[in-house]
Amino acid sequence: MNGEEQKPDCGAVLSEVYLYLDLECSEERRTLIKKHLDDCTHCLHEYGIEHEVKALVARCCGDEVAPRELRERLRIRLNELVIEVETREFLP
Ligand SMILES: [Zn+2]
Repeated sequence: MNGEEQKPDCGAVLSEVYLYLDLECSEERRTLIKKHLDDCTHCLHEYGIEHEVKALVARCCGDEVAPRELRERLRIRLNELVIEVETREFLP
């Protein structure tokens, strides 16, 4: 609605990725995240988690489960980023 799909919402996607860590593979979420990765590669790259997120998305729905270490590292990083992004959105 209102062309919201035109512009990827980086903050929302970071939240999605964060939630994704705790969920079993959800095709819907995975598609959303992957689409954002395609449309907006610079954002995850900018946050320095591009590699981790891609590894997670690839592994989660593959035969392998993402290693706990990777998930924990990403969880901590995302936790910081989500707060960061949300704070920024409320600023003028
Ligand atoms: Zn983005």
